[in-house]
Amino acid sequence: MAGLYFHIPFCKRICAYCDFYKSARLEQMDGVTAAMHRELDERQDYLRGEAVTTRYFGGGTPSLYAPAALKGLLDHAALLFDCSGTTETTLEANPDDLTENYLDGLREAGIDRLSIGIQSFDDGCLKLMNRRGDGEFLKALFARLRAGIPGLVIRTSLITGLPGEGEEEFAELCDFLREERLERVGAFAFSPEEGTPAAQMEHVDTDTAVKRAEIVEMLQSEIMDAYNAEKLGKTMEVLVDGYDEESGQFYGRTFADSPDIDGRVWIASDEPVHEGDFVMVKIDGCTDGDLCGYVVEEEA
Ligand code: SF4
Repeated sequence: MAGLYFHIPFCKRICAYCDFYKSARLEQMDGVTAAMHRELDERQDYLRGEAVTTRYFGGGTPSLYAPAALKGLLDHAALLFDCSGTTETTLEANPDDLTENYLDGLREAGIDRLSIGIQSFDDGCLKLMNRRGDGEFLKALFARLRAGIPGLVIRTSLITGLPGEGEEEFAELCDFLREERLERVGAFAFSPEEGTPAAQMEHVDTDTAVKRAEIVEMLQSEIMDAYNAEKLGKTMEVLVDGYDEESGQFYGRTFADSPDIDGRVWIASDEPVHEGDFVMVKIDGCTDGDLCGYVVEEEA
């Protein structure tokens, strides 16, 4: 199986902690889009007929692109590669780009997963980091997304230990997570990168930032267990990711999950399954953020 990755290196504002390659020269977006189209043509033999199962727009801030530009890239790729079995098309998004019109456009473009970079829920911290939006805006956004898309799995990422995050702000962050019960949260510890404004600002030490990321992961694991308990007895389509020698079991992930970030689905099967297969799995257990189940012929 293969995946297509489109990199959109543009950002409207530059976050104070960022040391990725990025550009705020938005006037160059059209030129980069044209270059991506050319690269698709030049690399059309690259996959040698292998089917594309995932497509991903990462950045930068891919949600700066109009849905029509994203669709143009996807349509072009579909002419050159076998995208008939693509199961997920993800866009990394900045929260304040997600207006109702934009979401409608994304649906029409074929985007079916969003990865929303939040980084913090604290207004002071967000301002200090030169991020757009604030905590109230994020709450309203999640409420709107949930109301508009029943069953939506909200995937977010945040950074613990950012400048401006004291004990009180971190406690508020944990309260916020308990309240919002977001299905997927990737927590990363702040690392002061040389040459960035954030590295010059007062912040907690690395051990504290790491510890806070671990606390968020534990909290999230409890939230996931409650979320997963609702899956017991259901049959879900699972993409097989690999085989674990230690447990002697195959594992995979559902539509909502990302490899190596989210919980796994452990798969029991009488028949051999293979990496890259899609199988229907009846869920009969959950623990520590993971699900387990057995392969069934069709949805029960
Ligand atoms: S949005 Fe992402 S890539 Fe852009 S400046 Fe912020 S952290 Fe860096």
